Amino acid sequence: MAGYDYDLFVIGAGSGGVRAARMSASYGARVGIAEERFLGGTCVNVGCIPKKLFAYGAHYREDAGDAAAFGWSFGEPALHWPTLIANKNREIERLNGIYRRILEANDVRIHESRARFVDAHTLDVDGELVTAETVLIAVGGRPQRPAIPGGEHAITSEEAFYLEQRPDRVLIVGGGYIAVEFAGIFKGYGAEVVQAYRGPLFMRGFDMDIRTHLAEEMAKKGVDIRWRTTVERIDPVDGRLACALSSGETVTVDQAMYAIGRVPNVADLGLEAVGVETRENGAIGIDDRFRTSVENIYALGDVTDRLQLTPVAIAEAMVLAANLYDGRDLAMDYADIATAVFSNPNVGTVGLTEEQARERYGAIDVYREAFRPLKHTLTEAQDRTMMKLVVDRGSDRVVGCHMVGPDAAEITQGLGIALKCGATKAQFDATVGIHPTAAEEFVTMRSPAPEPEAQAAE
Ligand code: FAD
Ligand code: NDP
Repeated sequence: MAGYDYDLFVIGAGSGGVRAARMSASYGARVGIAEERFLGGTCVNVGCIPKKLFAYGAHYREDAGDAAAFGWSFGEPALHWPTLIANKNREIERLNGIYRRILEANDVRIHESRARFVDAHTLDVDGELVTAETVLIAVGGRPQRPAIPGGEHAITSEEAFYLEQRPDRVLIVGGGYIAVEFAGIFKGYGAEVVQAYRGPLFMRGFDMDIRTHLAEEMAKKGVDIRWRTTVERIDPVDGRLACALSSGETVTVDQAMYAIGRVPNVADLGLEAVGVETRENGAIGIDDRFRTSVENIYALGDVTDRLQLTPVAIAEAMVLAANLYDGRDLAMDYADIATAVFSNPNVGTVGLTEEQARERYGAIDVYREAFRPLKHTLTEAQDRTMMKLVVDRGSDRVVGCHMVGPDAAEITQGLGIALKCGATKAQFDATVGIHPTAAEEFVTMRSPAPEPEAQAAE
């Protein structure tokens, strides 16, 4: 619209912001974007990508141990942590450049600074006032920091990616995605890991069999998990950290890492001044078209605190851009979004948990297998893989697939398509497996588990 500097101004060049900016520009909109920290946002810089690189690297020690059973010997593994950090940083810089080129190639003007609302159509971008007909808030979130005495000595995932040396002993606080992923990463790199979770069993919201199986497997790999445990204070002692636990014990570690959720990046954004409403935790409230409480202002991604996943932010951005500049009127479909946790072992999950399916459908069948992976029939490792299908008995539709084990993330992606297509258990059964794989178990499970009442009576 004439009179404004831009048709669309995007605040935040992360997963959602970059996609919304470039798609909108490709539909012909004049687009500007502000980024105060790093192009690509959390996922590229301090999230998915460096995390996955760390997770790959964390496997080599274990793999080298397993290799002995196959006749290989490499000598004692030695770690040079700075190589990992330097190589990871180099790759992230390359990705930053790619994001810049994507935006520039689509004629999106990049403002490398913080943006703040002045009014609903005007933003203060590092002292420059820019105007836009439509504004998209895609500012993401940041780690929640601990509010305990000495909490300032703890690190979060942000700092964990830039440690100068691998801690010999680390305390990880939390029991969600980041906590279990980093427990596996530090353990794999040879650190002693203590994980403190405040409840009786971590990974709340995941299927109960995933939660129990992952806990068992992580414990086998040597992660020292303390249940129903919080940290009361952290005191620096001789260059280390003495962490007083609620159990009365003090654990002394080189790093204490908190992974207790993320908070939306809404502080000092000027939201109150323009009337954009937020929920109690600061997340921006939106309707099914990403509209905030102010007509020309939209929000998506982590700042809305729906599903904090990169592909979700990207999919939301595609929907919004199509609605705004391609004449569409789409709503985002949040059903059956597959997700993986890059713990050791991996978790993959799509659809409903057994508990959710029981509540929604009443009569369900559950198919569950736990087995020793073929590779480990030769090694000393006691690892076990768990796979599970949840089936609505009435329609025969598979409504949940869950797995803990190597490659669970890769395997679950394909199952996500099957669930999206509404596949039935009969169709899973009619699918010929690929042998020998772990994945084939998903098409060969034939006997449902006994009903919970029957199990309880056993
Ligand atoms: P972000 O990517 O966070 O981008 C927001 C951007 O806005 C940031 O670059 C920020 O600097 C900028 N910004 C904020 N305020 C302003 C302002 N006022 N002015 C200008 N710029 C501003 N998801 C997965 O799907 N798979 C994974 O394996 C995975 N691993 C993760 C691992 C970790 C350790 C973390 C922390 C997250 C992980 N995630 C993962 C989640 C994923 O990173 C987020 O869901 C995703 O980045 C959200 O995208 P977004 O666009 O909403 O926000
Ligand atoms: P999560 O929400 O996944 O987990 C937070 C954990 O911290 C929970 O176990 C929670 O316990 C616990 N917790 C919350 N508050 C406190 C507190 N005050 N004291 C002690 N424990 C507390 O958050 P993360 O930080 O792990 O990750 C943020 C999000 O990023 C994830 O939810 C996910 O969406 C995304 N992400 C995705 C990844 C992937 O796709 N592989 C990887 C990493 C992150 P309780 O359950 O009892 O509330």
